[in-house]
Amino acid sequence: MQPHDVVVRGGTVVTPGGRHRLDLGIRDGRVAAISEDGSLAGAGSLAGGPAGGPEVIDARGKLVLPGLIDVHTHFGLTSGDIATSDDFYSGSVAAACGGVTTFIDFATPEPGQSVSAALAERLRAASRSVIDYSFHGVLIEPPAVEEVGALMEQGLTSFKLYMAYKARRLMAGDATLARALAAAGKRGGLAGVHAEDSDLVDETTAGLVRAGKTAMPFFAAGRPPEAERAAIARACRMAEDAGAPLYIFHLSTAAGLDEIRRARARGVRVWAETCPHYLTFTDDVYGRADGYKFVINPPLRKREDVEALWAGLAGREVQVVSSDHCPFPLAGKARGAASFLEAPAGIGGTELILTVLLSEGVAKGRLSLERVVQVTSSDPARLFGLYPRKGHVGPGADADFVIVDPEAEWTIAPGELHSLGDHTPYEGLRAHGRVVLTMSHGRVIYRDGEFVGQAGAGRFLKRGPTRQVLAFPLEG
Ligand code: MN
Repeated sequence: MQPHDVVVRGGTVVTPGGRHRLDLGIRDGRVAAISEDGSLAGAGSLAGGPAGGPEVIDARGKLVLPGLIDVHTHFGLTSGDIATSDDFYSGSVAAACGGVTTFIDFATPEPGQSVSAALAERLRAASRSVIDYSFHGVLIEPPAVEEVGALMEQGLTSFKLYMAYKARRLMAGDATLARALAAAGKRGGLAGVHAEDSDLVDETTAGLVRAGKTAMPFFAAGRPPEAERAAIARACRMAEDAGAPLYIFHLSTAAGLDEIRRARARGVRVWAETCPHYLTFTDDVYGRADGYKFVINPPLRKREDVEALWAGLAGREVQVVSSDHCPFPLAGKARGAASFLEAPAGIGGTELILTVLLSEGVAKGRLSLERVVQVTSSDPARLFGLYPRKGHVGPGADADFVIVDPEAEWTIAPGELHSLGDHTPYEGLRAHGRVVLTMSHGRVIYRDGEFVGQAGAGRFLKRGPTRQVLAFPLEG
């Protein structure tokens, strides 16, 4: 037997199927062997042998999870006259320090630009990423649907369409959405939506402006839950007509989840993502003096929505938790102090996905560790054409792992994080469980607070077709 390059010894390996104390043998960046605790590394070789024995990582007492796949990031994005705090280097470092080993960002064309041209720009910008990556193709008007086939051949097998942001010329009309669903679906791809009804949001917000109600506490009222529910209902009908699967980015409401449930009962293959902030905060924060820090679309919601999303995650109704990482500098966010219309929308979070799920989910009895693995790694890998290379603990899979100290308690503060964001909305939150090591392709890239990986080590991933993560028809 060839020697292993690295052995991860005795950790509690968590998969969707359960948890077991195991040794993981890694060779050439991939998992080569999985066997019982102590079988791959004797105690005497813990330091690694001068004769070239494997590096041994002692994971006893720790949890070993497949690396997270954050399928919703916005690194190196500019909104109006303001840029996000993280570029692809700092953003991918932050992600890595939170246990993320793959991210999917967006190739968003300017009006008149092709998605392929936008992708070429994003690939150049992403070349300094420290972890693996891909992009969703954003389809805007005039319709770029003709590009779907060519993009899929380049390994871009998922697409995003905005049902909101008409004024910013990001919105795709219903005809384009229907064509995109069909074009992606018939080729084994997946189209997803930012589900907010543009007209309803614009009319509601305009009403607030006319009434002079643009102070921060009114922000959420301008983008009501009904805008999300109506958009999800419409998109589900279109997916049903097209016989195509549908992905809902950043689900925020119980009403939206109800629509998804109704669509699935009709056999619609609709998958839902939510984000750490929708699982942590309510719209009460908009009444705080620093409420502008939380400006995000869709907005934060009510306590019952938060609980519905947790229950949806536990009950397998919500498939993915991703970050929507998009931090803006405090000076930009603070423009919202005068009027919510002035604050750029977006907050950071890629480094905290696992922390939030462990602290607010597992430690509070809302979610099992097995489900955490499923919603952060194995189901995103399936849906976005990366499985079983990613999101899987088995021979041949990429050796992408995160090791967690389940007992560590700490308090979230900007100084604890690696994002270049100058603040975090999670500041002061008590965390239970902490990432202590991240490994990408068998190499340690984060250990005990320090990023130790390399710029440019990440690879662009050509993705395959989408895979189903629920069986239909659903039971019950
Ligand atoms: Mn987003």
